[in-house]
Amino acid sequence: MPALFFVAPPSPSHAVAGPAALPFRGVAGGALLDRLRTWHPAVSQERLILLASLFFAVASNGPFWRASYALHPGNLLFGLALSGLLVTANAVLLSLLVWRWSAKPLLTVLFFSTAMAVHYMSTYGVYMDADMVRNVLQTDARESRELITPALILPLLVYAVLPTLAVWRVRIPPRRLIRTAWIRPLFIAGLLVVGAGSVLLASADVASMLRNHREIKYLATPLNYLIGLEQNLRSNSPIKRAAKAPIAQDAKAAPHAPGARPRLLVLVVGETVRAQNWGLNGYRRQTTPELAQIGVVNFPDMHSCGTSTEVSVPCMFSRLGRRHYDEKAIRSEQSLLNVLDGVGIKTLWRDNQSGCKGVCEGTAFESLADAKDPGLCADGRCMDEVLLKGLAEQVRLTPGDRVVVLHQLGNHGPSYFQRYPGNFRTFTPPCENPELGNCPREQIVNAYDNAVLYTDHFLARAVHELQAMDDYDTALIYVSDHGESLGEKGLYLHGVPYAIAPAEQTSVPMVMWFSRHFALDRGLDTRCLAQRARQRTDHDVLFSSVLGLLQVATSAYDPAQDVFASCVTPTARA
Ligand SMILES: [Zn+2]
Repeated sequence: MPALFFVAPPSPSHAVAGPAALPFRGVAGGALLDRLRTWHPAVSQERLILLASLFFAVASNGPFWRASYALHPGNLLFGLALSGLLVTANAVLLSLLVWRWSAKPLLTVLFFSTAMAVHYMSTYGVYMDADMVRNVLQTDARESRELITPALILPLLVYAVLPTLAVWRVRIPPRRLIRTAWIRPLFIAGLLVVGAGSVLLASADVASMLRNHREIKYLATPLNYLIGLEQNLRSNSPIKRAAKAPIAQDAKAAPHAPGARPRLLVLVVGETVRAQNWGLNGYRRQTTPELAQIGVVNFPDMHSCGTSTEVSVPCMFSRLGRRHYDEKAIRSEQSLLNVLDGVGIKTLWRDNQSGCKGVCEGTAFESLADAKDPGLCADGRCMDEVLLKGLAEQVRLTPGDRVVVLHQLGNHGPSYFQRYPGNFRTFTPPCENPELGNCPREQIVNAYDNAVLYTDHFLARAVHELQAMDDYDTALIYVSDHGESLGEKGLYLHGVPYAIAPAEQTSVPMVMWFSRHFALDRGLDTRCLAQRARQRTDHDVLFSSVLGLLQVATSAYDPAQDVFASCVTPTARA
């Protein structure tokens, strides 16, 4: 999701066109314009807060009302209770932010950001929780460009421009500070009483909704993203400044036999590819023809840690994983890459997306997203094959065992059609409009599947590159970060809170390939691994599996999370 929130407000001096600007006007129209021109009602700060809260509750909460109505259709008391709660909750929050000097610019920003948030929430079925707000904040200009479409114009006009014009016509009378000092607390206390009173109208239903359908609160704007923003500011600021806590400090790599070839493991972090559309998993379309030719170990029952890049990528490289999920802890400590670097297996993160999400902090990072390769890059975006450019040379620069992460752009939506070159336009016609709502579902799936075909080609090319590097024992692990909804249950894209996420967003493909020498040297039985691959697996295994495969011993290693544990000879490195 893009960073769309902070759009510059329209200049107040252009808020209303003066009558002189109109060459013709009838008598009635003229009178109306004159009245508008002189319309400057005095509105107190608290009344403005109430009016804005009412406006948000009525005009900007379609997804919230639809989801709550579905719980208790036709229950009037429940509706009244929720209305009271929503208006007062918004008003309490605004009471902390809206003052005479801040009211107009702040409400303008809120009208625009709310209109955009509601547009994306209704169009793609996304929830604005703290994770989604972080996705928005981390989005780069390229991603935002793909999401700004003509379909935004009407909602912005109605839900942002009109209320903004009205607010800038209002006069907020000055008031002595001492008066505000007692009016505002009294106002907030009144709101709390009204809010509590409205909950009493249907307290059992409201309590059950807040307990059993917590995700609905992430649909209430602008509360949802303001709280998410505050959570992000609070949790990120101290951690960003502090150095990450070291982990696995007892880690040791098995000694290298003299004359043995160094190992090179390429870890491909895929983007937005879901298991359902993966040819090797038995999808009705062969979307992975090249991998099928090569013969890889496929994990058909693989599950992601999160439903967004911001959650999944840090989680995949952490020792905690989904089973001990704690976002703050994961972000505040080192990753698998730091452990590998620490024992002398130098890592390199090559990126064709929006960075490593903190995972590669303190280790080598190279962004190719801005590369200028004329055959692979255009309009500030590159095809994933750019990640293979100069790969072998980069690896050989640092002697010894190496781990290289390739972070794909993959199936990053909604512009799936821009994720593959023209010769992969196999399933036709593909949706070639970033506004997915304008395409029939089959066309969206066609574009998505073409992008999967291109990932298949990219991975096959990566394997061929590794096969050509016979000065290394080589291996490749590919795993996607999360899945994608393509219109199932009315959902598009991804990022639904994990607890209620549909399988489309959490089932992901994973494949592995090993050169003959790698498997021999490591004593890896790939047939045994193919058996293991049939079991349910999740992102949590990455940390211990990579350590186990590369023979790094540490107390942070968990054999139960190592998919190779029962398929390798337990002897020390030959
Ligand atoms: Zn992602």
